[in-house]
Amino acid sequence: MKIANKTVTATRLVKDALEKAKHFADYNIFTFIDEEGALKKAAEIDDKIARGEKVGRLAGVPYALKDNFMSTRGDTTASAHILEGCASPITATAVERLENEGAIMIGRTNLDAFAHGSSTENSYYGPTLNAYDKTRVAGGSSGGSAAAVALDIVEFATGTDTGGSIRQPASFNGVYGLKPTYGAVSRYGVVAMASSLDCIGFFTKTPEDMDLLMSVASGRDPKDLTTLPDFYNTNPQLGDSRPVASRPSLRGSAAQSAPVVAEGLESPKLRIGIIKDFDNDVVDAEIRETLKDKCELLKSKGYEIVELEMPSLKYALAVYYIIQPAEVASNLSRYDGVRYGFRSEKSGDLDSLYGNTRSEGFMPENKRRIMIGNFVLSSGFFDAYFLKAAKARTMIADEYKKAFEKCDFILTPVSPSPAFKLGEKVNDPVAMYLEDLMSVSLNLAGVPGLAIPAGRNKAGLPIGLQLVAPRRQDKALIEFAKELQDE
Ligand code: GLN
Repeated sequence: MKIANKTVTATRLVKDALEKAKHFADYNIFTFIDEEGALKKAAEIDDKIARGEKVGRLAGVPYALKDNFMSTRGDTTASAHILEGCASPITATAVERLENEGAIMIGRTNLDAFAHGSSTENSYYGPTLNAYDKTRVAGGSSGGSAAAVALDIVEFATGTDTGGSIRQPASFNGVYGLKPTYGAVSRYGVVAMASSLDCIGFFTKTPEDMDLLMSVASGRDPKDLTTLPDFYNTNPQLGDSRPVASRPSLRGSAAQSAPVVAEGLESPKLRIGIIKDFDNDVVDAEIRETLKDKCELLKSKGYEIVELEMPSLKYALAVYYIIQPAEVASNLSRYDGVRYGFRSEKSGDLDSLYGNTRSEGFMPENKRRIMIGNFVLSSGFFDAYFLKAAKARTMIADEYKKAFEKCDFILTPVSPSPAFKLGEKVNDPVAMYLEDLMSVSLNLAGVPGLAIPAGRNKAGLPIGLQLVAPRRQDKALIEFAKELQDE
């Protein structure tokens, strides 16, 4: 708006973002900064405005791109050695949509290699530091994107969330992070991790910005046949401008065409579900306290709090760490030193070319997942692991469906603890996997989740909470977050 009104130029905004990126260089946020390209785009937008031409809804807004999104600007490395020097000939649909509206990418952000991890410590380029405490992790895998927004370098950043990679770093850095409904935003041109779980989403400072980004980026894409027809901009219920609390309940959300209750009739209270199974010692006391306080506040505002029992969720982590590595093993089989990026110097015949390239190019965590994935898919163990996990996944999805018959949204912690110390968990894979306890079930069920900032703990670290909605209720979820931000 300010740009279109000529109170600030796109060039000024981009220059500021680039300066801040340099100022915070020690946080190790960016794997690539495109000063020249970003300034060129900014000049084009400023020229357009000077000529009185129409510009897009994100004109001149600087943003950061997680380095697993393909675009022709900068190599797409996914912070993995094996993709070093990999120049993409294509641009991800999400990037295309953002840039068609005038958003300007200033650089690519650091992640755990191939998005495997919860701390960004698995990056080939080293960890990203937490925006609030440099001795702690930024979370992961999208640690760079979260810190870039938290340190106010850019207005927003992109992320991918296969099992918490947007929500957990968002909560570790005190910003908003959305994992939309599976299929809401096209995955075309994004380095695949686990295709049935991968979701494209964003980091922002406000729910209003999230709303705008979703309305720009979501919707059907012929290049990704798992994308859903645009529900974000067209759901009739969402044309309702009344605050969420005073709208007819989302109770009919499964039937999206639920008739709108006439004005004046008493509308049912919005029901917020709390998952009893998460109220235990595994979760940090201050996070549980924050959740309780939020519930009290919501109650005092007239929301109804509903206690949910979701016993299948205790299997979510185990199920995730079977299905996800199985899909990872398959998706990573294409990196062989022939087609993309890095090739080992030690290559002799074809087998040793593959072997040496993969052995040198993957990080230990990538290899761990390839091995687990191939194990659970192997003919001797397929039924015992993969098939059983696939069945349990359906149980979890059904449990969410049932839960949303009793409530409109669910409120949970994002992760069991706030940002932990660098090095604390990196050598203990199981401790690192436990970080994903509250986030992975959403990916298994395909439902949307939004990490919202919920204050700080005594040590000054951000605490986040997770709002969960039924499938395709992303817009309502963001509207609800808009209401909560003032409380
Ligand atoms: N911590 C999760 C994992 O390591 C995050 C994955 C993701 O969302 N990309 O699998």
